[in-house]
Amino acid sequence: MNTFKRVLLKLSGESLMGAQQYGIDTDRLGDYARDIKAASEQGIQIAIVIGGGNIFRGLSGAAQGFDRVQGDQMGMLATVINSLALGSALTALGVKNRVFTAIRMEPIGEYYAQPRVLEALERGEVVILSGGTGNPYFTTDTGSSLRGIELKADVMLKGTRVDGIYTADPEKDPTATKFDRITYDEIYQRGLKIMDLTATTMCMENKLPIIVFDMDTPGNLLKVLRGESIGTYVGF
Ligand code: UDP
Repeated sequence: MNTFKRVLLKLSGESLMGAQQYGIDTDRLGDYARDIKAASEQGIQIAIVIGGGNIFRGLSGAAQGFDRVQGDQMGMLATVINSLALGSALTALGVKNRVFTAIRMEPIGEYYAQPRVLEALERGEVVILSGGTGNPYFTTDTGSSLRGIELKADVMLKGTRVDGIYTADPEKDPTATKFDRITYDEIYQRGLKIMDLTATTMCMENKLPIIVFDMDTPGNLLKVLRGESIGTYVGF
């Protein structure tokens, strides 16, 4: 029994690097594609937003002297590169998929329009929504909360390399403990940096629950979809 009918899956660009320092690790990409295929075969409608941090981030670009707006545009293009890579990996596995772009750039991808994405989801195609929100000064976390809300997803699944939300960064603080469940308010109060606040606020205001889980362990996506509490659930 699946808990969700339609999900928005957010994948971080950084995770796509695998053990590399930069770019796309094809083993990791293959793992993601296999997990997504298995989920799609369960009849779950899947929309995916991928970050671009493995290639370029506008903020780091600005720190190196790039113009912020152009740096963010470079970052958005990085998400398009990752989306094409995932689309190609899914196609290789025989999974019907379609890449949409938040900025017009046919024939690389179809220009995002909510009704067309809904149609593709209803047909059982996996949709990959690239280019974030299409605007600078935003992140792909905000892009995924926006798309999740627009597409009326039941949940936003934030796949990370950590298995949930902790009281502190578990990679830095060994005493950090994990939450099975947390409210949006508590995230603000504790100053937890799971996503940027714009994304968290959008989810809260539009009642989109979030599940943060470890996507880098193959099989975990299916577990989350079956309702196993392996990550942290964010709600009211
Ligand atoms: N970006 C943007 N607008 C958006 C989404 C992304 O300008 O709506 C740019 C921004 O520069 C960001 C980069 O794209 O740093 C990559 O996205 P993000 O940092 O969210 O990727 P992740 O951390 O998930 O790999």
